[in-house]
Amino acid sequence: MKNIDVMIDAATLQDRVLELGAQITRDYAGREPTLVAIMKGAVFFLADLARAIDLPVCIELMGVSSYQGGESTGEVRITHDVSAPMRGRHLLVVEDIIDTGLTMKFLLENLQARHPASLKVCALIEKKTATANKVAIDYRGFVIDDRFVVGYGLDYGEKYRNLHFIGVLK
Ligand code: 5GP
Repeated sequence: MKNIDVMIDAATLQDRVLELGAQITRDYAGREPTLVAIMKGAVFFLADLARAIDLPVCIELMGVSSYQGGESTGEVRITHDVSAPMRGRHLLVVEDIIDTGLTMKFLLENLQARHPASLKVCALIEKKTATANKVAIDYRGFVIDDRFVVGYGLDYGEKYRNLHFIGVLK
């Protein structure tokens, strides 16, 4: 696309997703992780990651919206919840990108309150952003500079999610 610079090409993305899947397969050997993907952006990553994991997995989706600006700064709201009890499960939250960490911090507190057996985070991209909400990322695909990126699930005004690569709008 003419208006987008490629930051992470499709082959590099796919290679890294396979590596993450292999690492998760080793770490969760003998267990059955539940992948909790955050809609909508992480569903592309989820689809590839789940197939790169050589274990029985369960899939759950959560939707969240974070309000920015005004009096509601910092408020995160669940717009779609998981379909089953999370108690006793090995939860691995699958997220496309972590910027300030606010969304993930909220999600982890919310999921922890449901008493899972374990709770970890897999993020495709972490932004180098100075923030007070840093969360521990157990599986990290890439670290990028603080640029607004699109593609492979990430949108700008709901567009560009279907790109095979991660890019920067010109
Ligand atoms: P955080 O709460 O960590 O600041 O933001 C996380 C959410 O903000 C992500 O799930 C994503 O929806 C959105 N986001 C943050 N940075 C970017 C970006 O560079 N591009 C896109 N498309 N969304 C972003």
